[in-house]
Amino acid sequence: MTARPVLGILGGGQLAQMMALEAIPLGIQCHIYDPDPVAPGRLCAIHHCAAYDDTSALLRFAAAVDVITYEFENIPMSCVTFLNTHKPIMPGITALQMCQDRLTEKTFARSLGFVTAPFVDLVPTLSSSDALRTVGAPAILKTRRMGYDGKGQQTIQNAEELDVARAAYGSYELILEGMVHFRHEVSIITARAQDGTTVRYPLIQNTHRQGILRTSLAPAPCRTTELEALADQIASTVLDALGYVGVLTIECFVVDAPGGSTLVINEFAPRVHNSGHWSIEGATTSQFAYHVRAVMGLRIDPPELRGYSALCNLIGDEPAHSDIPVGVSIHRYHKTPRPGRKVGHLTITTTDHTALQHTIEVCNQLIGVRIT
Ligand code: AMP
Repeated sequence: MTARPVLGILGGGQLAQMMALEAIPLGIQCHIYDPDPVAPGRLCAIHHCAAYDDTSALLRFAAAVDVITYEFENIPMSCVTFLNTHKPIMPGITALQMCQDRLTEKTFARSLGFVTAPFVDLVPTLSSSDALRTVGAPAILKTRRMGYDGKGQQTIQNAEELDVARAAYGSYELILEGMVHFRHEVSIITARAQDGTTVRYPLIQNTHRQGILRTSLAPAPCRTTELEALADQIASTVLDALGYVGVLTIECFVVDAPGGSTLVINEFAPRVHNSGHWSIEGATTSQFAYHVRAVMGLRIDPPELRGYSALCNLIGDEPAHSDIPVGVSIHRYHKTPRPGRKVGHLTITTTDHTALQHTIEVCNQLIGVRIT
């Protein structure tokens, strides 16, 4: 490693921006690689602005950095395998490949003995009625790859609807999932260092609207000792199975089970995650610092929470500074607002639960969401 360590990040969005901001005090310089000339991460990192298949630009990027990570899982595999022959990529290619495809991630979760929604691979030879018989109706049709924020998904009531939707998706590979009747949605955010040390935040409770994360509460109000123990087991089993280094997020549903509730795994994100943004203010080590530390070979210590935290995404629009309630932190992503686009977030952290509820109410009015 060079005297001044350099971290290369594939993707230059807000996650790269927040990683770079945590890298600076650690003495680590970040380079981002993103074809978008106005990628938010360029504000605090050196920007390599080129296409993901531009091999000379990729070579220059690899030559400039010590370690490569990524801030989104849909990077073309050809780009990652090419770079991996020049510099170490963390989290590794096995994790990335598994998370790029909903079919492989659900199969992987099941192979480790965990519960997922019922699912079938919608191969062309499988009839819609047989597929629905397997997973039950209503069901959710999803593209196997490239889906995020609820994109590439559709609720299906019957075989006729599924026939029409499959025809509309053309050559896309599809998966059909049974509808999970969940009480809550939670995420597990965990990190593993190169020496194998693992840490985890308490469960985080998430609210989505139209497939997009709106709010997160940490610790999750729905958490129980049993759910936290299961989250520990899921996190350590998955991290070990993948030989993982960095931050890993596992999105789960909380469902009723005999004698209490249990976790059903929905998906994995091999990276820092929107539901962990509160950790910048709300924990002694943020998820961004954990990720940078882990992939750069630094030590990681367990987090302590600074109280109760709430995160509200700013979607499609940003409030004026003067409208933000006292005690609320804003993070702007320097992105042009447009409907459905995440342009920033608010975080509230307090040791006083009543104050948290009050501030949440004020934020609800400001951005028109309900945190439940
Ligand atoms: P995903 O892209 O898989 O994270 O889905 C986005 C959101 O859609 C999830 O956070 C859930 O709110 C909902 N969702 C996805 N899959 C299912 C499912 N099998 N059953 C019920 N809700 C789901």
